[in-house]
This record gives sequence, structure tokens and C-alpha cells, in this order.
Amino acid sequence: MFSNGGAVLMQAGFARLRRFCAIGLSTFAVLGAPLSVAAEPLKVVASFSILGDMVKVIGGENVQVTTLIGPNVDAHSHEPTASDSRVLADANVVVMNGLGFEAWMPRLMRASGFKGHEIVASTGVTPRQLDHDHDHDHGHSHGHDDKADGAASVDPHAWQDLRNGVKYARNIANGLSRVDPVNRAGYQARADIYVTEMEKLHNEIRQSLAAIPAERRKVVTPHDAFGYFGQAYDITFVPVAGLASDAEPSARDIARLIREIKKTKSAALFTEKALSSRVINQIARETGAKVGGTLYADTLDVTDRPAGTYLGMFKWNAGQLIFSLKP
Ligand SMILES: [Zn+2]
Repeated sequence: MFSNGGAVLMQAGFARLRRFCAIGLSTFAVLGAPLSVAAEPLKVVASFSILGDMVKVIGGENVQVTTLIGPNVDAHSHEPTASDSRVLADANVVVMNGLGFEAWMPRLMRASGFKGHEIVASTGVTPRQLDHDHDHDHGHSHGHDDKADGAASVDPHAWQDLRNGVKYARNIANGLSRVDPVNRAGYQARADIYVTEMEKLHNEIRQSLAAIPAERRKVVTPHDAFGYFGQAYDITFVPVAGLASDAEPSARDIARLIREIKKTKSAALFTEKALSSRVINQIARETGAKVGGTLYADTLDVTDRPAGTYLGMFKWNAGQLIFSLKP
């Protein structure tokens, strides 16, 4: 993935030198100085809000981040715009999740003429594979991306485990360091602090959720976004729809889920930010189960809200689950 890093670095460097030159420091003697490269932040494009926050934390003052899919927007239904294309054309780096989450990205990158460096944040995580029998047991339809048929059963929502968040942070820091080695120490130092916070929060969430009796750890959500969270923190998530949030669950799937909830009498219902709560409210009406709150799956809230950052999202989700699931 870094095979063209050298050429890209030179291009990125030259592009910034040209701009530097254009703003007035015009002698060629100045252009050779490393100071001129460090003077302008890297232009980084993040595909969606969670990555945008991570890049801001790790990049600090050395990056200028543009997020294509902003807060409180459903990432699965994103249709690239002309403005996305313009932003990419001008960027030094693009940071994306991978695992098939941004099926639209390769085409957009080609169409925009993007010539920068690509960082795939999920590189090195162990992908969660879905086997279809397991899907059927949970009674939901397969809302897979039609664009990625072969990879359809790989769950892209790897950021929902803080141990994967650590890998994302390292990949972002290493990628930025390769493109902008002058500022390597800063990227690595900020990532170190960030990773320590993630590890601390991971242990805190595990400990708090461990206090909840096993039979109460069952949660119904609109789409299949919390598989990694469930594995990491021992909660069974039962999604109404599949991996992509725009899949409509069938009436038969909903009826089966309602029967299951009535029978087991032990599931908490949660809505998801940026998604319709219609089906969850219907299940609540028909089963008498309460809606425990709203979880953040694929999007952050706006920055000044509790779930406005990646770490804030975890604190919010864990808090909502603990409040609702505790006896
Ligand atoms: Zn999703």
C-alpha cells in the first residue's frame, strides 16, 4: 500500500512548495529549505466522521482534515458528490476504513484524479466474517452492499472494538509519517497518547459491563453494526437488518424477531443515530419491551456533543447499555 509513497511524497512536497511560493516567498533559495514544507499542513480527506476525528487527534496542527460524510449522516447511503471529487483532487492523503465500507471510493478517486497517498485504517484487524446460517438464526435479512458481492459477508464496522481502534490509530500515524516524515515525531507522540486512552477506556468498559448478568446482555439494534462491540464486550447484538443500514427488513423477519423477544423476554431495544427508529418502535409496541436509548454505530455526533468524538462515542454507547441492561 505504500509502494508509491516516495513519488507521492515528492508530489505532495512539490505541490505544497508551489503554493508556498505562490503566497509570496518566491526565491528559489527558500524552496530548498525543509521549513517551507512544514509550513503548510497536509490536506487529508477522511471518508466518514469517525475517521475524521481520529485523523484530527493524531494529525494535530500538521493536518487540515476534510470529512466527506459528516456527523449524524448514514454512511451506508452515501452518494459521492461533485464537491467530494473537488476535495479529493486537491488532497495529499485519503484515509478510509476499508473492509468494503466505502464501496464508492475507488471510483471517486479515479474520477477526481486524486494523486495522493491512501491510508486504509483497518489494515491488520481480524475481520468479522458472517456465515449465513448464523444470520438466519437471528432472523434478519441480508442487507449487503450489492457493489461488493464477493466481500459481502465481511463486517466493515471494525471500529466498534477499541482494540481495533488502536490499530486504526497506528495505521493513521504510520501513514501520515510516511507522507510527511518531517512531522513524524508529532504524529507518533499524539498516537501514543491516544492509544493509551483507548486501552484505558477499553478496560473500563469491559469492567463495567462485566457487572451485568449474562442473561441480560442482549440488545436489538436496527442494523448489524455492533458485531465487533459484542465480541469485545460480551454482549449479544441482534440486528433487525443486515450489514448495510439501507436494507429494509422483511415483515417476516420482523415478525420472527418479535416472537423471539416475546419468548425470551430479555432483549433491550436501541435505536441508532442517523437511522430510522420506525422498526424498533414497532417492535417495542408489539412486545412491550422498552427502547433503552440511542447508540452511535457509523457516525459521530457534532463535535460539542458527548458522542462527538470516537472516545466519546464509546463512553456514550457503554453508558446507555449499562443504564438500560443493569437489573
Ligand atoms: Zn453500518
